[in-house]
Amino acid sequence: MKREKDFFDCFTEKNLEDRPSFCYKPFYRDGFVMATDLAIMVRAPYHSLQGVYDKSEQPKRIPDFPQQNCDFELPLATIVKTIKSIPEVEEVRVHGLAAECDECDGSGTVEWVYEDSDGEEHRKDFDCPICDGRGKVKTKKYLREWRCIKINDTIFSVRALMKLAKAMDVAGFDAVNIRNMPTGYTPALMCLGDNIEVIIMPCSKESNPIREIKL
Ligand SMILES: [Zn+2]
Repeated sequence: MKREKDFFDCFTEKNLEDRPSFCYKPFYRDGFVMATDLAIMVRAPYHSLQGVYDKSEQPKRIPDFPQQNCDFELPLATIVKTIKSIPEVEEVRVHGLAAECDECDGSGTVEWVYEDSDGEEHRKDFDCPICDGRGKVKTKKYLREWRCIKINDTIFSVRALMKLAKAMDVAGFDAVNIRNMPTGYTPALMCLGDNIEVIIMPCSKESNPIREIKL
């Protein structure tokens, strides 16, 4: 594999504060080297790799890698083209639960803290400046990575597909072989080359895919 360390780093996550420390770097487990951000996970047989990996930090439980139930080839070029066709930021009209104001969590009020010259704190509730006290907004800004793409009948987050595409580019894979597409909330299985397996958790059926890839 080309650029092994960079490849594994594509699946880790150091920027999201809610991720446990085993998401920071690849780890060794049961004959495999694995890396995950909790939404996507890669594993490759240890003996096929050059680097040194330790057992130090790792999850208690590893999800099952599912059995093969399909066989599709998804070219890297298709993933990249589809992702790039989604605006990096888009102002989207929102309805229902999605219209709840993020600033005040839908309450319409925010608490302001004022510190006076004696260093004493005063707290007061005000109308939320983002939604004008309504608790709801009409539009929200959506980043590309928050959106979803449907591949056949399964919906994936753009964030996970961006990680997969970057890893493929780094290690020099032109296509990924899709081996399992779940119907429920279990991971999909995708393979790179002879022995690298990637599982990706699908998004919920209620999520609204912005693009579709048919294979
Ligand atoms: Zn608000």
